[in-house]
Amino acid sequence: MSRYGQSENLYRRAVEVIPGGVNSPVRAFAAVGGMPPFIDRGEGAELIDCDGNRYIDFCCSWGPLILGHARPEILEAIQETAAKGSSFGASTALEVELAEKVVDKVEPLEKVRFVSSGTEAVMSAIRLARGFTGRDKIIKFNGCYHGHSDYLLVKAGSGLATLGEPSSGGVPADFAAHTLIADLDDEASVEAYFEKYVKDIAAVIIEPIPANNGLLIQRKEFLQFLRNITKRHEALLIFDEVISGFRVGWGGAADFYGITPDLMTFGKVIGGGMPVGAFGGRTEIMDKLAPLGQVYQAGTLSGNPVAMAAGLATLKVLENEDGFARLEKLSAYFQMALDRELEGHESNIVRFGSLIWPVFQKDAPRRADGIESEAIDRFNSLHRSILDRGVYLPPSGYEVMFVSLAHTTEMLDQAAAVIGEAVKAE
Ligand SMILES: *Cc1c(COP(=O)(O)O)cnc(C)c1O
Repeated sequence: MSRYGQSENLYRRAVEVIPGGVNSPVRAFAAVGGMPPFIDRGEGAELIDCDGNRYIDFCCSWGPLILGHARPEILEAIQETAAKGSSFGASTALEVELAEKVVDKVEPLEKVRFVSSGTEAVMSAIRLARGFTGRDKIIKFNGCYHGHSDYLLVKAGSGLATLGEPSSGGVPADFAAHTLIADLDDEASVEAYFEKYVKDIAAVIIEPIPANNGLLIQRKEFLQFLRNITKRHEALLIFDEVISGFRVGWGGAADFYGITPDLMTFGKVIGGGMPVGAFGGRTEIMDKLAPLGQVYQAGTLSGNPVAMAAGLATLKVLENEDGFARLEKLSAYFQMALDRELEGHESNIVRFGSLIWPVFQKDAPRRADGIESEAIDRFNSLHRSILDRGVYLPPSGYEVMFVSLAHTTEMLDQAAAVIGEAVKAE
């Protein structure tokens, strides 16, 4: 039997009853070839699959697991809370505590509302921005992902005159028509939309540290420009910090760059591995939400106590262990180890805090069209041999790696050596 025998069996069953065998398409191994291992459990920084193979994990559930897997403090919080009942559809102390914590830590927030995913957080923030401004259009950037709601699944049209075209089936062109696509790192592409649609633009939304299509680190001046132009035209600036929030530091990218957005969205880390999203901003804007205002937004499981407890416990550990400073050290160490192993190969280890993106091209791109398809092909062709050597990378060259507090320097050295070996063996 192959070393992936159990996974192969499960995969055969999965594709019969789940489209593509996965409940989220990024989990499929389509880009990297072969069959995905099925995971039995996680321990610290490691994944163990159903055949007992161990991997050093750099996916970390796509970001939430900043402390690694099955951390005792988080499990305890989840177990204790669940033992009291898993959901009430009524108010609890835990949601107040987490809201206080988030509002306290993130400077631009006066109020926050919890939802159950990043997608919901962004969708609600955009509805609120539209309700608040009374305008319909939004500007988003080519290469930024904001969840899978209809009008955000839009890629670039060609040129100014072209309105957004949906990049998913099932999204009516009319829905996408209110989404204007600009380019990262390109002031002119944003200015042009404001010239044409100034009275219609409700908000500009950006991942201030774009990390869903490579890691496209922006110039501070570009983000400041977005702040200035939105303010001038009374549109809102939305920072989608679903990845960067509580990952690059307490105040996210907004604090790092010293820029105050009008609304911010969160997810991933603040749920501690449970389904949580959040959006927040100034009281003046947030109080437009029902039941105070006319912008409706709701959720049966929003602010779920078990999820709130996991989020709170995660933030407490980060606080008690000086988490962000330690993560920065570990991640810088890993970057150096990777640079050493890949010396002499055309590659860049792009890093922002504990977000790391290895890309096999000469220069680090700042916009989506700066990513060379050969660089992605190169990563994808290496993925299987890295996996076979016990290192689990996200299964696409467009995805970033996540370092957690459970990674040790020994693991990081080992992972860098494995990646180096795979590259040399090609
Ligand atoms: C992951 C992500 C989302 C969507 O969050 P889900 O919880 O997957 O719905 C939205 N925005 C950004 C920036 C993300 O990284």
